[in-house]
Amino acid sequence: MIQDIEPMKLDNSYNADITADNDSVVFIFDEREIAYRGDCADTFPVFGEIGGASELIYLFSIDGRKYFLCTDTTELSIPEKFSCTDVKNLRRCVNIPRHEVFASATAYHLYKWYASNRFCGECGGTLIHTTAERALLCPHCGELIYPRINPAVIAGVTDGDRILVTRYAGSRGVNYDALVAGFVEIGETPEQTVAREVMEETGLKVKNIRYYKSQPWGYSAGLLMGFYCEADSSDKIVLDESELQSAVWVKREDIKGQPDNFSLTHEMMMKFKSGEIR
Ligand SMILES: [Zn+2]
Repeated sequence: MIQDIEPMKLDNSYNADITADNDSVVFIFDEREIAYRGDCADTFPVFGEIGGASELIYLFSIDGRKYFLCTDTTELSIPEKFSCTDVKNLRRCVNIPRHEVFASATAYHLYKWYASNRFCGECGGTLIHTTAERALLCPHCGELIYPRINPAVIAGVTDGDRILVTRYAGSRGVNYDALVAGFVEIGETPEQTVAREVMEETGLKVKNIRYYKSQPWGYSAGLLMGFYCEADSSDKIVLDESELQSAVWVKREDIKGQPDNFSLTHEMMMKFKSGEIR
């Protein structure tokens, strides 16, 4: 999965005193676009090769290498060897190391959080960064804002030797195989989310819901929790066409998975295909 970068290790502890070295990575975003170089290991701009990067926020380190976010790009000079692409496209670049893809997704999560939290929701005051932890503080009313993480579930619905494979409709845009998924709502346990989402999207009742694994998913500011469950009694699918373009039962041997192995969804499909999940 995207976060499986062992033996490398992400250190996400915040420290306001950390400064950039010449080889520190600097992430430069413009909405979903990220500056990158697709041809070799040095995927992203480093501090020593860009000019005018004065507004930097320390994000995290991977094996001692530091990663920063550039929050003011107006004075920035980026060498021509870099181009821009949708941050999600980096998943498809086979020559970009996994830890760099994970770093870019995690950085995107923080970039979106910083960009949408400039003012206090309580009093409208301008937020400042605290020095002690990764949090934004309103100096006027004392409100503290922590990075937002959206919990969501992925449901591997099984029926004997078949699993329910979906494709998302419309603007969710992903046209490869997926599993039923959705965000946890207020007042719900993730297990209840599984039952609700499967019912809403496919009309199926499920039982024997059991947790599998989780994964951070910075592209949607998410924390994804994977569950397997079994269709209860009826296997007749009633599709919610606003959410899904298709939902079909696929036999173990016919499961294709996704084009890469970054997602928990892919791992869950392949674990079922292998027979490890009964
Ligand atoms: Zn305030």
